[in-house]
Amino acid sequence: MTESKRLKIGEGKISGYLSIFLAIICLGTTVCAYFPEYLTTSDFRQLYNPNRIKWIFLFVLLASFGFALTSFILSKKTKLGFFGILIIAGSIFLATGLPEYENIESKSFTIGMDWLLIDILISSIVFIPIELFLPKRPHQTKFHEEWRTDLIYFIISHLLIQVSGVLIKLPAELLFSNLGLSNLQSWVQGIWFVPQLFLALFISDLFQWTAHYFFHKTPYLWRFHSIHHSIKEIDWLAGSRLHFVDLIGVRAFSFIPLYVLGFSPSVFTTYIIIVSFQAVLAHSNTRISFGFFRYLIVTPQYHHWHHADDPKAFNKNFAIHFPFIDMIFGTYYPIGKAWPESTGLGNVKFPKGFIRQFFFPFVKNPEAENSIKSPSER
Ligand SMILES: [Zn+2]
Ligand SMILES: [Zn+2]
Repeated sequence: MTESKRLKIGEGKISGYLSIFLAIICLGTTVCAYFPEYLTTSDFRQLYNPNRIKWIFLFVLLASFGFALTSFILSKKTKLGFFGILIIAGSIFLATGLPEYENIESKSFTIGMDWLLIDILISSIVFIPIELFLPKRPHQTKFHEEWRTDLIYFIISHLLIQVSGVLIKLPAELLFSNLGLSNLQSWVQGIWFVPQLFLALFISDLFQWTAHYFFHKTPYLWRFHSIHHSIKEIDWLAGSRLHFVDLIGVRAFSFIPLYVLGFSPSVFTTYIIIVSFQAVLAHSNTRISFGFFRYLIVTPQYHHWHHADDPKAFNKNFAIHFPFIDMIFGTYYPIGKAWPESTGLGNVKFPKGFIRQFFFPFVKNPEAENSIKSPSER
């Protein structure tokens, strides 16, 4: 799709797409249930109860059916509701033949399909209404030019969660596993929950700032990070557009202090939830200003300035949790009430699609290719 198409209420298309989307989630859930040892992650499995998933499955199935009916009622022309029903029928057919739930064998390599399905469902429920009803750029829709590429980034990064988890932990484990840090770690774990969580967020953001800064300032690393800055129509889904080298590099570096200090499991889990949520929120296309909190925590407005196609904001606002980290390092852009006019890298051409973008930084220098602003200017 080359042009932006804004969906209009009452045409039966929004309900049709919602029906298909929810039906695909149901179909994916039944496929997961057939091959749980390969398609679900052992860490994540402990967080949900398969019996509860059955009820959620039923609820999502009914919602999908309801949207398909709405689509039929609103318009005879669109066939979207019909496709929704077809996928629902397929899911029910597969679900009836499901084997009894047994203890799941842990395999050394698994695909995070459970993580993908749950996260895309929750993120859509939270962020699609926010962007639909409180958008910053109302002309922008889910169906802008590159939404499919962004969706592929989202899908692949979730499916490969186990591989990225291993790679993210690797440098910390290789470098710091034999340092005899148990005294320090038990002291950290003894800190009260709230300050301990704040410490985890603060110190990982310091490391994130450093890695992020070098991904901007080092020409070879900028090749990878420039893919993320190629986003022109920034929204919650586009935030996933991160080259694998960028994703692993920044996260592995941010993980080092968390590993060394050995935060308690409850703090670590809360940290993961906050960092995942805030990263998506920071990219979302919403005008919610967060009032005074916008000076204390990273908000969409703050991070949109990091993506601004405006020289006065180049190399600013690197933090992902706390703006005061940028204030400490002199990279704070005072956001006030303004928003950037546009985001992205001007007229620089990037290859389209996940695969081309994956190979691009290894073989080409976007700077030389496109007379892009050099990393030192950004
Ligand atoms: Zn950046
Ligand atoms: Zn970003």
